Amino acid sequence: MKQAVIAIHGGAGTITRAAMDAAREREYSAALEHVLQAGQRILAGGGSALDAVTEAVRLLEECPLFNAGKGAVLTRAGTYELDAAVMDGATLRAGAVACVQRLRNPVLAARAVLEHSEHVLFAGEGAEAFAAAQGLECVPPGFYYTAARTEQWQRARAAAGMLLDHDAATLVAQEQAGAEPIDPDSKFGTVGAVACDRHGNLAAATSTGGVTNKLVGRVGDSPLIGAGCYADDVAAVSCTGTGEMFIRAVAAHDVVAQMRYAGLSLQEAARRVVMEKLPAIRGRGGLIAVDRAGNVALPFNTEGMYRGSARVDGPVEVSIYG
Ligand code: ASP
Repeated sequence: MKQAVIAIHGGAGTITRAAMDAAREREYSAALEHVLQAGQRILAGGGSALDAVTEAVRLLEECPLFNAGKGAVLTRAGTYELDAAVMDGATLRAGAVACVQRLRNPVLAARAVLEHSEHVLFAGEGAEAFAAAQGLECVPPGFYYTAARTEQWQRARAAAGMLLDHDAATLVAQEQAGAEPIDPDSKFGTVGAVACDRHGNLAAATSTGGVTNKLVGRVGDSPLIGAGCYADDVAAVSCTGTGEMFIRAVAAHDVVAQMRYAGLSLQEAARRVVMEKLPAIRGRGGLIAVDRAGNVALPFNTEGMYRGSARVDGPVEVSIYG
């Protein structure tokens, strides 16, 4: 049981420290703690890593503070398109959905693909039909609405750019400082979980609304196995950041490959991907990873990343900034 642990993220590139106030910081920390405690309970009860990450990401999707499920960002057309993936390291089974517009919990759809289909990735209406046939809850698009995201989207449209998550507050601060309205180092958001259970089995899950004002049909790294989500018997990884770069770097799998083939530790493999390989192609963001010994790595190359981890018998630890 010693190695049983869960780690989660709520996106890299947080609201800048300057734009964050104490009450808001407490709100984020409380949400992360709540999710970690739920994951801890599952692992403590002998639950699988797969169950722990699925439930953690479902709870993060339910929380409007994060860019996944309710609280997702808008596309250029003012619609919502959500992506999610889940992978079981013990069996190498994986499931994912992309561009779904009416599923309450995309991660549950991904889990259903893993469990009840011979395929790995479904997109759009086919994904929704599959999930509905599995009895998963469908919602009208308005379900995902939050005032904060809509405001963020309107500002992005006004600036005619593609804006990553959490920028609304940053933009206000920048404008007040007389700076450009769009920050080239703009922020990201996605949620994810990785876990190691009492048997040393690993799993990872990732879910996102993508980037604000994205073109309709754009798919990032989050639902792509190996890019934004990966688990095997070496490590489990969930990513957040500039999706296109994470896809090109095959970031999640690269952490595992460096451990497997080059003998690197989890810490060193994760550090190389996030602090060297991604920056070399202007990739911004971070990842969370666990290995089968229960080691945890949470590197990011942005100002912050909503993150936390909890061992079954230990304290819940959450942080936002470096
Ligand atoms: N990686 C996600 C995407 O590109 C966004 C994010 O993590 O903020 O869709």
